[in-house]
Amino acid sequence: MDIIRRLRVLGNPLHREDADVRRAFAAWHRQVRIPQARYVAFLTALLYFLYAVLEQSVATDLHTSRLVAHALLVPGLLLAVGLMSFERRLQPMMWVLLTLAPVVANAANLHLNVGSAQFLIFAPEIYLSIMWTFAISGLALRQAVIAATVIIALVIAATFRQPLEADLLQLHLMWALAAFSFGCLSAFILEKAHKHTFLQQQQLARAARIDELTSLWNRAHIERLFDEERARAERYGEPFAVILIDIDHFKSVNDTWGHSSGDGVLRQFAGLLRQNLRKVDAIGRIGGEEFFVLLPQTRGEQALVAARELQARITAFDFDTVGRQTASFGVTEYRPGEDRVDTFNRADQALYAAKKNGRSRIEVR
Ligand code: GH3
Ligand code: MG
Ligand code: MG
Repeated sequence: MDIIRRLRVLGNPLHREDADVRRAFAAWHRQVRIPQARYVAFLTALLYFLYAVLEQSVATDLHTSRLVAHALLVPGLLLAVGLMSFERRLQPMMWVLLTLAPVVANAANLHLNVGSAQFLIFAPEIYLSIMWTFAISGLALRQAVIAATVIIALVIAATFRQPLEADLLQLHLMWALAAFSFGCLSAFILEKAHKHTFLQQQQLARAARIDELTSLWNRAHIERLFDEERARAERYGEPFAVILIDIDHFKSVNDTWGHSSGDGVLRQFAGLLRQNLRKVDAIGRIGGEEFFVLLPQTRGEQALVAARELQARITAFDFDTVGRQTASFGVTEYRPGEDRVDTFNRADQALYAAKKNGRSRIEVR
């Protein structure tokens, strides 16, 4: 049991992630594979037409059935897959058809060739299509395993109805096994690489938004959130406000207690902001000891109340090592039509006034 668990951990970079991340990966992975599924489906449909033509001169029997299977049925399915890939709404159905297509192709092959002396001439289609299912089609590993297992089951069932000499039969099964194992391994490795890429992308996207020290939003992301809020305000006429906060005399905290104690204060300060604001408020560290709060659907007066509440919590808090600290606040409401820079500047002026008027104060502009 332990070995199986270890293998699962080794084989699946997402094993530690929760259901949301797995779902996000599945959705991302489907999108990544769409172009592959599309162009492979079109190319394979085209090659089946060619095959249908060539087969007419090679095969000794069932010419009409062969034409129906290889010029109509299989290419029809694949063309449907290719066309459906362009329409988001049809994509779930497209994956089902893509899983079915190789099964149908192999069922047709076996139906046409089992019992005929030409069985082995047409057998390469089986081996190639198993590889195709795993490594070329664009199917995810799970769907490919399902399709290829059904194909192998059909092949084994049909082969016993095929009068082949024992050594030819062994060779045939050997090729089918080789196609299955090579295909399965390559699909597994590719999917594992995709999972790694996905996780790395997520980490990079997180790092681009988050301030490492406090886990609050960083300046760039706060600006993005501000612009989104501004667009909403312009569209729906809803007010919003911002609070700029700067810790007082923070340089002396560093000078007296050292930089790592200073870092501890910044972390605890961030925690206080998180605990004492609403879930909908966006909080960021936008400079050394400078914090920014974006309060959606909030008037300036309401933001002032929130700032007072915060100030009371901060002044009453005993920071590890360094004890009591104070901060200064600049509060302002967004004014319709203005740019981000205008709001930020006004909050800055309010904060500057709070510092100038003695610190540990709130000013509104
Ligand atoms: P004021 O009351 O006017 O705001 O004075 P202040 O000392 O807080 O402001 P000043 O801008 O002079 O100094 C800010 C200090 O913050 C200087 C810098 O050493 C410190 N600082 C900036 N970023 C960090 C950080 O990430 N960690 C730590 N520990 N200190 C930082
Ligand atoms: Mg300061
Ligand atoms: Mg500062």
